[in-house]
Amino acid sequence: MKEQNTKNKDFLSGPEILKEMNISWSEKLFKETKDQYNKVSRIIPEIEWPFFAPYIKAINILKKDMNAVILAHNYQTPEIFHCISDIRGDSLQLAKEAGNVDADIILQCGVHFMAETSKLLNMDKTVLIPSMDAGCSLAESITGADVRKIKEENPNIPVVTYVNTSAEVKAESDVCCTSSNALNIVNSLESDEVIFLPDEYLALNVAKETKKKIIMWKGRCEVHEEFTPEEIIEFRENEPGVKVIAHPECSPEVVAQSDFSGSTSAMINWVKDNQPNKVLMVTECSMSDNISVENPNVDFVRPCNLCPHMKTINLENILESLWNKKIEVQVNPEVAIKAKQAIVKMIEL
Ligand code: SF4
Repeated sequence: MKEQNTKNKDFLSGPEILKEMNISWSEKLFKETKDQYNKVSRIIPEIEWPFFAPYIKAINILKKDMNAVILAHNYQTPEIFHCISDIRGDSLQLAKEAGNVDADIILQCGVHFMAETSKLLNMDKTVLIPSMDAGCSLAESITGADVRKIKEENPNIPVVTYVNTSAEVKAESDVCCTSSNALNIVNSLESDEVIFLPDEYLALNVAKETKKKIIMWKGRCEVHEEFTPEEIIEFRENEPGVKVIAHPECSPEVVAQSDFSGSTSAMINWVKDNQPNKVLMVTECSMSDNISVENPNVDFVRPCNLCPHMKTINLENILESLWNKKIEVQVNPEVAIKAKQAIVKMIEL
């Protein structure tokens, strides 16, 4: 998709757009962007700011001119998260809040399934994603046809799917869930058996806490599956007193080694409320960077597993996306109606 765009003679690249907008690095620009730099100065060295600042200024001007809103997931880099985004959070928070804003354009700084969710909840708006390489190993582990086959093999058993799935998969489901409400959603269903898709580790973590029989799929998050219990034990030995909080997309063995386990939002709240001296967040690495800005007294030990898909989004392709109005996310209207029902049911339960 990127290749198609850059071959189009009407497509302007990031540096060309900066030239059109007459924005370049200067002492004056440094003063203009000082407040933004102060937010991220603990994470971004000053020497890198001359590269970021022109893009930050250009994006902030354009989004105002175009009546656009920028959504940034917790795993985006700090210059995106703190300096250009309007709404920040996990995938569901982003999609829900996008529906309440008075904008013509939603630009999603996150992966493709998140942009699809924003679109299906806001079918009248233009939803843009800066890179089609922003996929997700979990979302790609299962298709709508796979879900139809599982349903045939397990008739009359309700299907719960994690929000980290395509619109097509959501459309085949009875109800969606997030990592924070997965257990409650499973327990709220009348059936004694539940098909829980596609994250095997999240399913195993839920299965430990519920009396229902869980039918699973073998999807994994390639970031969270990397963590091992041995690694956590080693961190505890090297960092005495460290508190360990883990995302439930990690294996049950890793979760068992943790002081707390919860969704990205629950992890953020836990740090805010408990203010530990030292914390290890067992999740994507940028989240520690992003929340360290608001928790200056907490020392973050970084295991540093980065999501390669989230990291395909950067200031340059965000500016290109806005200026060129590319890449527009589309969802088949019939699929959108069914997928939206599964999300709305989750919100209602
Ligand atoms: S961190 Fe994992 S679940 Fe999230 S987008 Fe990356 S691969 Fe997908």
